[in-house]
Amino acid sequence: MVSSGRQGSESGRRPIIGGNWKMNTTLPSAITLAEDIVRLVGDVVEVDVVLCPPFPNLESVQRVIEASSLELGAQDVYWEDAGAYTGEVSTPMLTAVGCDWVIVGHSERRILFGESSEIVNRKLHAVLRGDLRAILAMGETREERHTSRTQEVIERQLRESLAGVSAADMERVVIAYEPVWAIGTGETATPDQAREAHAYARIVLAQLFSEEIAAGTRIQYGGSVTAANAAELMAQPGIDGALVGGASLKAADFATIVKAAAGS
Ligand code: PEP
Repeated sequence: MVSSGRQGSESGRRPIIGGNWKMNTTLPSAITLAEDIVRLVGDVVEVDVVLCPPFPNLESVQRVIEASSLELGAQDVYWEDAGAYTGEVSTPMLTAVGCDWVIVGHSERRILFGESSEIVNRKLHAVLRGDLRAILAMGETREERHTSRTQEVIERQLRESLAGVSAADMERVVIAYEPVWAIGTGETATPDQAREAHAYARIVLAQLFSEEIAAGTRIQYGGSVTAANAAELMAQPGIDGALVGGASLKAADFATIVKAAAGS
């Protein structure tokens, strides 16, 4: 079930929670986790909730969630539709197993697999061409924050990753602000740090597109979001949900985060 994204909370932007399971779960444990999440929050309609299991588990998770309000996302994609690209997965393949969403530009892809913003941009265009929706991740490293380059990085990554994307297609793009130093470290950005980064990302979106697009685009926060800190983060103006790694592997914690978004 895919909504327009331009409805919901006071800001007019519907909250979105993504669960990035990364390279975790085998088929049986993926099914169990999805079943538990469906039981807890499978009827939540105020929030877009996107589960992103590993590729081999997508189809089975889709079967578990298909009668619920939950949506399916992939963690990555290649930019060609088919061909001699050993090991890669394309948007038609994702669509055929029921995906609505794809994460592009996750910092683990950028850092561990050498993905430049140019590659991220190609992937984003493939997602949009394939009629899917994108969660575009970006954010600064610890060193970049400590040398006062956070805004520079946000601007550069958004500008390069969104090159050639039309204003109309921004309807299908969600931005995830994910400071690299906060991912999987247990060190969360403070609400002030997150709010400031989101506000700056919106300034960049206004420059790249328009005030209207900037105001309508959802920006999630990601980086050690937990059941304990989610509500405070999502209560900040301009924070429209969360991209959740570790805590998305615990159904009860993930459900608490979804409910916090529903109340934000
Ligand atoms: C992520 O992978 O996008 C993420 C934010 O991970 P974690 O919640 O574990 O920091």
